[in-house]
Parts: sequence; C-alpha cells; structure tokens
Amino acid sequence: MGRLEGKSIIITGAGSGIGRAASLLFTKEGAQLIAVDRTEGVQETVEQVRKAGGTAEAVMADAGSEDDVKGFVAKALSAYGKLDGIWANAGISGGLVPLPEQTPEHWQEILRVNLIGPFLAIKHTMPHLIKQGHGAILCTASVAGLKSGASGHPYAASKAGVISLVQTTAYSLSGTGVRINAVCPGLIETGMTKPVFDGARARGTDHKIGQLNPLKRAGQPHELATMGLFLLSDEASYVNGQAFPVDGGLTAS
Ligand code: NAD
Repeated sequence: MGRLEGKSIIITGAGSGIGRAASLLFTKEGAQLIAVDRTEGVQETVEQVRKAGGTAEAVMADAGSEDDVKGFVAKALSAYGKLDGIWANAGISGGLVPLPEQTPEHWQEILRVNLIGPFLAIKHTMPHLIKQGHGAILCTASVAGLKSGASGHPYAASKAGVISLVQTTAYSLSGTGVRINAVCPGLIETGMTKPVFDGARARGTDHKIGQLNPLKRAGQPHELATMGLFLLSDEASYVNGQAFPVDGGLTAS
C-alpha cells in the first residue's frame, strides 16, 4: 500500500526540478496525479510517470492565472472524482537584478507567480477539501523567505509572503480537517539554479557550492519530494500551519 494510495493530488511546476521529482515519487506511492506546468516539460514528466506504471494527466497552464487554476482543479475532479491535496510549487526566481534597476512590472510578475499563484491554489481547492472534511495543501516557499541572503528582493518578499499566507490560512481552515504547510528549500540543483551550477562548473568552483550549510552540498529535487510526500500524506495528520526548511541546515546557523 503506497503512502498516498488512491489520493488525487495536483502538483504545479511539475515540468521540472522539485515538481517533477515529486510527481514521480507521489505516483510511485499510489497518488493519482494532475501534473501542471506552463511548459511542455509537463508532458515529459507524465510520460516518465506512466512508464513507471503510475497514473497522471498533464495540464499545461499558468499557475498565476485564476482561470487556469479553476481549469486544473476541475480537471482533477473530472479525472479522479475527488481532490485530496495540492502542492502549489510553481515558481520563478526573477534573477539578481540590482534594486535601483528593478521595476514595478518585474515585482508584479514575481509576486503573481510565486504568491498569487499559491493564493489561487488555496482559494480554488479549499471548498472541495472542506466539503469532504479532509485534505492537505502544501506551498513551496524558500529559505529566502526566512532570512536575508543572496536572492532577489521580490523573490525573497514573495516567499516570505507564502509563509505568512500558509500561517494565516491554517487559522482560516480551523475546524475543517484540512491542513496546510510550506516547505522552504535551500539551494537545490534544478532548472531554476542551473545557471549557478553551470557557471561554477565553468569556473571550476563547483566544489564550493552548498558550502554555506553544515552538510556542505547542494540538495537534490528528490530530497524535497520526500518532505512533500510526508506533509501531504496522512502520516502528517497533526502537522499544520508550519514552514519547514529543507536546506541542509543552512538556517540552523
Ligand atoms: P524549476 O525551474 O526546475 O521548476 C519550476 C517549474 O515551475 C518549471 O517547470 C516552470 O516552468 C514552472 N513554472 C514557473 N512559472 C509557472 C507558472 N506561472 N505556471 C505554471 N508553471 C510555472 O525550479 P525548482 O527549483 O524545481 O522550483 C520549484 C519551487 O522551488 C519554486 O517555487 C522555487 O521558487 C522553489 N525553490 C527552489 C530553490 C532551488 O534552489 N532550486 C530554492 C528555494 C525555493
């Protein structure tokens, strides 16, 4: 029996990195998946899931658009007849633009995807989860939302916003049986951080990557997927309203 056996789950940002690793792990653990991404990478994710014997449908959609969010929630309900959880994981970094060069448009796009996206995911899944009296929501924040560091300002602000959104929503969900949590990844080797890793490899400094945390290495996408699996499963039945760093100990120092 899988740890997510028979659960209908949506993952956004499933076309790459953490979302793809979670798609593969969750379906291996029995989840019926709606994999969402705005790129064609989501088709490749679903092909990999099916090849491994799992159940998944791909939806190409923008996780920051209310119409698209309504669409992929409806798809989960029509495909599997119910919804048990969502991982609002899609995000963009926005790069490291010096503050004087940042524009309101630059901020708006990062906030739209990274913060309004999770808000919309919560808004449109909540009614279904509440109606059935159980369910779990997970949002991807970042260590950048917990402490200052090398991230861009709008990215860090968007991720701090996600943590606050999760904490506030836990109270809005009081008495419903629905849980909500966040994960805060440290430096993880994915599509988003590829330029960092490629640049370091080109300079021969890749051995220094991740040296700021006590484990002295970067994380891999499956190391986030395993945390997501726990938090969306019934094993985490008393875990609610929290933001968990998965960062090799970076924020412990
Ligand atoms: P990634 O780039 O490999 O994957 C992100 C996926 O999200 C991509 O497939 C992308 O197409 C998709 N996406 C972006 N905007 C979207 C939108 N509007 N609608 C639908 N899909 C969209 O990066 P990742 O590292 O796997 O990122 C996953 C999450 O983890 C993000 O929220 C990111 O901010 C967060 N995170 C990553 C790191 C890291 O070091 N990689 C650290 C902290 C937080």
